[in-house]
Amino acid sequence: MKSEILSLSNVSKESLLNETKKKVLEHQEKCNSFVTILENASLGEGKESKLSNIPYVLKDNFSTKGILTTGSSNTLKDYIPPYNSTVYQKLLDAGAILVAKSSMDEFGMGGSGITPHTGVVCNPYDTSLIAGGSSCGSAACVCDKVVPFAIGSDTGDSVRKPAAYCGIVGYKPTYGMISRYGLFPFASSLDHVGVLTRSVVDAAIVGNAIKGIDSHDMTTFDSSSIDLEKEIEEPISTRKLFYIKELVRLENYPNASEELKSILSQFHEFIKTLQSQGVLVEEVSLSRELLDVIPSVYTCISCAEATSNLSNLTGILFGEPGVGKNVVEQMIDHRTKGFSPLIKRRLIIGSYVLQKENQEKYFVNAQRVRNRIVSIMKGFFQKYDACILPCASSVAPKIKDVNDKMKRESSILDNHMVIGNFGGFPSITIPSSFINGMPVGINLTAEIMEDAKLLSIAYQCEKLLDFKGGETK
Ligand code: GLN
Repeated sequence: MKSEILSLSNVSKESLLNETKKKVLEHQEKCNSFVTILENASLGEGKESKLSNIPYVLKDNFSTKGILTTGSSNTLKDYIPPYNSTVYQKLLDAGAILVAKSSMDEFGMGGSGITPHTGVVCNPYDTSLIAGGSSCGSAACVCDKVVPFAIGSDTGDSVRKPAAYCGIVGYKPTYGMISRYGLFPFASSLDHVGVLTRSVVDAAIVGNAIKGIDSHDMTTFDSSSIDLEKEIEEPISTRKLFYIKELVRLENYPNASEELKSILSQFHEFIKTLQSQGVLVEEVSLSRELLDVIPSVYTCISCAEATSNLSNLTGILFGEPGVGKNVVEQMIDHRTKGFSPLIKRRLIIGSYVLQKENQEKYFVNAQRVRNRIVSIMKGFFQKYDACILPCASSVAPKIKDVNDKMKRESSILDNHMVIGNFGGFPSITIPSSFINGMPVGINLTAEIMEDAKLLSIAYQCEKLLDFKGGETK
């Protein structure tokens, strides 16, 4: 069974930790993945578990008591939380060792890893390329074999997209399975905690360790009957999968790049492999109109929620106070200086769609379209176990070609993973192959609460794909 975490059980934990600390520093030189490096991290005292004394990295939007937590934003560049997020507390209790806090696109907004206040995070396979975001640092360090797992957050695809660009596994469980208490909120109805690993089994192990109902987060549910590891080796031959034909037929992309052609042809090859294993895979249709509006719907809802969630960042409760003659001027000064242009743009969009006269036209309508897409997917899940699709239309783009204006997101193939957030569906990305020396991934999504089944399908796909990873440079 492919598992880094289980294979580390026989390793001397002292030497593992020392080795990891060395790798953290080397990796930081190369990829700039971390906001904070915990050089004094020591062997844990948590209970005996599969994660005891296993080093890991946490995205810098999870509150860690007494440890800098910035959300990669200038507004919180010196913020030290007075309490622990539930995820961090659970990992502390499990005896895992936090070795660094990872950089992210500011407050989770973005998909490139070029906006952290500490600078761009690069892809370990090629440092002229992005790692993808917003969980850029978490993805890059797992890809570069610094740690066997890292924690991220996923509001649109922020765990699964960087996982695809970095050739690793990115798993976002059912909404409410993992507590968001102490996670900086971006868009609460879409925000999920996610895990980044180098194998599906490891995603299951970490998922099991951090899930659970939490009185601090009223959206969590009791998942004690769901064991993510137990059924992982179930055979795939009886499964029924579907893909959305509008997303994977070459004729829908008249200007397809060579890269996109390879992604689609490799995807169809893999579908044939699955079928040869007895898996039923069928095509379904989701209208092009609905696929085309996913970015706008996501933008309306996420920006509206972000506007509300970030309204407490005024420099009064947190961060450096702004300068001004009165409190309003001080708040304006703090926010003007603190937020990057991307955040400002999104907060303006959010305020606009929430204005009384615009609410029905934008925000409420976006919710209607979101519900429509979710109910269509739920219809598919009545007949099928999971949806299978490529993760993106390309490999990781070059840093110099990315701007923060969501330009690349015009392609339907780059945006469909947001559906997982619209419906709170469990969704996982696994690496499938290399194209032009860079990894690409396959995404699997299932009905809510079907996480164990999803992971078992992913595990069998992982075996069939037999992705070896490559040498990072
Ligand atoms: N790329 C998306 C955005 O820009 C997703 C972000 C996320 O999942 N946190 O908002």
